[in-house]
Amino acid sequence: MTSPTISQIGEISLIDDIRKQFSQKLRDVTVGIGDDAAVIKPREKYLLLTTDMMVEGVHFDLRFITAYQLGFKLISVNVSDIYAMGGIPRHVLLTIALHKNTPAEFVHMLMNGVKDAMTLYHAVLVGGDLSSTQDGISLSATLIGYAGKYILRSGAHVGDRIYVTGSLGDSACGLHVLKKMKRTVSLNKKNARGSMHSFCKKLGAMHGGPARSGLSWKIVEPLVRRHLMPEARNPQKFIRDATAMIDISDGLLIDLTRLCNEGSTGAKIYEEKIPVSIEMKKAAECLGIDPLTLALTGGEDYELLFTARQGKRVSATCIGEITESQRVIVNASGKERPLSVGGYRHFQ
Ligand SMILES: [Mg+2]
Repeated sequence: MTSPTISQIGEISLIDDIRKQFSQKLRDVTVGIGDDAAVIKPREKYLLLTTDMMVEGVHFDLRFITAYQLGFKLISVNVSDIYAMGGIPRHVLLTIALHKNTPAEFVHMLMNGVKDAMTLYHAVLVGGDLSSTQDGISLSATLIGYAGKYILRSGAHVGDRIYVTGSLGDSACGLHVLKKMKRTVSLNKKNARGSMHSFCKKLGAMHGGPARSGLSWKIVEPLVRRHLMPEARNPQKFIRDATAMIDISDGLLIDLTRLCNEGSTGAKIYEEKIPVSIEMKKAAECLGIDPLTLALTGGEDYELLFTARQGKRVSATCIGEITESQRVIVNASGKERPLSVGGYRHFQ
């Protein structure tokens, strides 16, 4: 049985379904979904506001990502910006434009992804808007967060250490794998393992044989997951007093340049220190891509890049330090070259 389309269901009943799915009584939400505007009682000194839009054909491709994963990712990318300011995500407004022939099941799965991500981050839906589009779909989330104290991109001082959380390049490598696969993949472990095993074998064989590459679903899964369902990093787990912070959405080099521009500083980072996962290294090798290039320029990892005074207790990887004005990257043999984004645009 095929799912009815949203035009068959109608806007009112669609909104009603979403309202039921997200109805919760919360202390800081005085009025939630259903009235002309939400009413919120702020709990902290500062409100942080951010919005991020995802457009079909520009930011995502429905050949590679499921509706559920898309909903999850939409929330994560917005949460990442609130975390990058040192805030706690809280209230979400959702604006969705869909084609009238979109199956209602698609909307249902999309909202399930939104809901699971919001549960993960303890955020709540307080309103939104639904519209139709002639062409590709577009999604936008506005996120309101709280902070007692916020952290800017511009606060780094000369001598501060530069840190990144997690590992870099995983998401970009995951996207390369998805482009080879040319289909969506379930990240539900039970379903995925069997069907993915044969794909990994094929991919391994294509690029030098599975024995040589050692490529398996166990290696590919975290990369693909990082791309399809990234989890935003809460800075509280890594550092107490970051001096400057940004989330890595467009790649380490671009986002470090933004941080340096805002603070009018330089930076010196070391290639050898850039954290790269074993999985990414193996998969990149198998695909014939340089892992370092992926780590330096690959976007959408949603890891945090921050600076802290020397001697601070930090549980993240130190990749270099803030300098007065020179921006350089040092290779394994100690040779410096300018830290420029231009030289690394292969994967744009
Ligand atoms: Mg950001």
